[in-house]
Parts: sequence; structure tokens; C-alpha cells
Amino acid sequence: MPDHPVRFTPHDPDADFSVTAARPDIASRDPSVYPAHFMVGDGYPTEDDFVVARQEQGKGYGVYARRPFQRGYRVCRISGTIVHHVMQHTLQISVDAHLYDPYFTGFLLHSCDPNVFLDMGRFELWAMKDILPGQALTMDYASTEDFLFKQFPCLCGAPSCRKWITGRREPVRMPDGESDGR
Ligand SMILES: [Zn+2]
Repeated sequence: MPDHPVRFTPHDPDADFSVTAARPDIASRDPSVYPAHFMVGDGYPTEDDFVVARQEQGKGYGVYARRPFQRGYRVCRISGTIVHHVMQHTLQISVDAHLYDPYFTGFLLHSCDPNVFLDMGRFELWAMKDILPGQALTMDYASTEDFLFKQFPCLCGAPSCRKWITGRREPVRMPDGESDGR
């Protein structure tokens, strides 16, 4: 997970998510989001479908769609390295196993009303809502994590927003180390 509080920014219709200009040669490039040594194939995220970009100046990165994704369909498969402790950019697989993915899933933003769901048993990402080009992919961090690398305040704006995001099995830990009693 990102190393600082993620403040979800609603989609900016004027934002330019195109990275075409930065591509030196479309014909020869490898569009995979994951590095070549991962040896992933069909179904894994490519730069044709997603861009990992900064939300705003000075804030963390997010994953943005570059094409529509339909609710109820698999968005992509995911990959990474198995580690045995929570770190930045890890997603929990089981009690003592985590997927370290500093290329794609580790940059998914949090929302309390998310548009994607990570199936950590199958290593697949699914669309829970229709997603439009330019929109951030958002997941609920508590849907996978018992304990977050870092708890943080949420400004996702959803009616169901929990305001302060924790893992699903940990108490609230305020930045000053005191609990607010929840
Ligand atoms: Zn929220």
C-alpha cells in the first residue's frame, strides 16, 4: 500500500491520462505493466488498458483505466512476489502470506465504495461497477488486509465512508498513538 495517506480524488474530466507521447516506439515496446522476468501473458495488465499515475501534485500514485471495464467482469489477473510480512504495496493472501506488487495492485487506491474487488485466492481483479476511461480503480483495503501497513484518513466521499481506514482485524491507531475508542 502507499506509504502515505491516500486521499481519493474524484475523477478529473480534464486530466490527461495519455502516455502515448512518451512511448518511443509502439511497435517494439512491451506493453506489460509487469517486468519481463515475471513472464506473464494474456490477461495481465498492460499499458494499453491502464496507467499508473500520480493523483495530484505531491500525492501518491493510483491506477487509472484507459478503456471501459464492465461491472461483473474480470478486469485482469495480477502478479507479484510472495512475502511473509506486510509492507508497502503488499496485498494479503493468507494469515502469513502477502503479494508484493509494486507495479500494479500495490498502487490501487482505497475507497469505502470501491469499483474493483481483488480475489486474492485466484489473483484476479474484478469490476464491481462500470469503470470509464480515466477513472481510478479503487478497492476497499479492508477487504484484503487484516493489518494495514499504515492506517490513514479517508476522504473518498462515499456515504458509507469510514473516515479512518484500518485493516479488518486491527484497532484504530491514531497518528499520535492514542486510540479514539472505536
Ligand atoms: Zn472512505
